[in-house]
Amino acid sequence: MQALIAELHAARAHTRRVADDLGGAREFGPRLPIVNPPRWELGHVGWFQEFWCLRRGGRESILPNADALYNSATVAHDKRWILPLPSFPSTLEYRDEVLRRVIERVRAGGEADLAYFARLATRHEDMHAEAFHYTRQTLGYPAPQLPAPGGFPGNRVSGDAELPGGRFELGARPGGPEFTFDNEKWSHPVILAPFRMSRTAVTNAEYLGFVEAGGYRKREYWSDEGWAWKDRTEPLYWRGSTLRRFDRWVPIPPDEPIVHVSWYEAEAYCRFAGRRLPTEAEWEYAASFDPVSRMKRRYPWGDDAWTTALANLEGGALASVHGYPRGDSAFGLRQMIGNVWEWTASTFLPYPGFVRDPYQEYSEPWFGTHKVLRGGSFATPSRVVHSSFRNFYTPDRADIFAGLRTCAL
Ligand code: FE
Repeated sequence: MQALIAELHAARAHTRRVADDLGGAREFGPRLPIVNPPRWELGHVGWFQEFWCLRRGGRESILPNADALYNSATVAHDKRWILPLPSFPSTLEYRDEVLRRVIERVRAGGEADLAYFARLATRHEDMHAEAFHYTRQTLGYPAPQLPAPGGFPGNRVSGDAELPGGRFELGARPGGPEFTFDNEKWSHPVILAPFRMSRTAVTNAEYLGFVEAGGYRKREYWSDEGWAWKDRTEPLYWRGSTLRRFDRWVPIPPDEPIVHVSWYEAEAYCRFAGRRLPTEAEWEYAASFDPVSRMKRRYPWGDDAWTTALANLEGGALASVHGYPRGDSAFGLRQMIGNVWEWTASTFLPYPGFVRDPYQEYSEPWFGTHKVLRGGSFATPSRVVHSSFRNFYTPDRADIFAGLRTCAL
């Protein structure tokens, strides 16, 4: 129970750092399909927690009309700017009152399902925290006040790791300690051919080679959909030899991973480089399989919980792809978790025997249209990611903290 309460507090503390300063001139922001108005999104975080933790069985919200304001399944995206929302301070008050009541209920005990729903709500909050984080990048706001990464440099790694493949259990195992969404259930055997995977994510220096070779103008690197999507001649937020990080323009850091690329750009880069994206099964095997014990690990480094030395998560900035050597996978792959999300070749689909969980809108509506990303970014709260966690976005999205890692053809 103490661990659950600590988790609820930690998620809220993180949200406060990334979003609670977005009031005033920034509380609505431009009406774009890829962002939410912060005043709405903060209220929605509270609403979700209240809905699943305090209102099961049809109880009323403590906020009149809350469902008509904050239910993301029914409130159309472009309406979120024109609803009669509570003021920014009242929104924060509602959100924090919900948390107080949830903690009270957890302390009181006796509700069999509450722990599940409280953990669901923290992960939901964590994902919105990352959304606030990339919204700040999208809109050119200052970075949130979070600790900068650093202090964990590694030896320079290069080239591919050799992975023998074979039979692998893809997905989450029942009874594991991590919170598991329906789309990860349950582990099932897949057979993988031997393959070679890069020890690091693709760096800015490597991606610059693609840009300078005219990659954005050469038809042969792009799929039909990618070519039709492409409306730029360099990556999002790049301008010549500089790129924008939140509200600042900086020289392109060569050893940091390329970030803010769409799946189409990831695919085009692979064609240029004579490489390919891993499938999500290959990715998960590479991140989690220990060839000595023949066991699957919760994280690339083992089963121990995350610490700041193991992966760049819930932080303030990207780090070099060579950092965090203690987080290496058993195959010697660096940063399979943290720094940037990695696009995979795989379309987001249900695993065999899929059964939807109570929060039905989480996975099922997006099967077949989204691509799978793995591993988490510097902005992902550590509670969210583990080796079998699946993230998913449409292939056109470049605003998220997504990069890629490649495999040999
Ligand atoms: Fe949500």
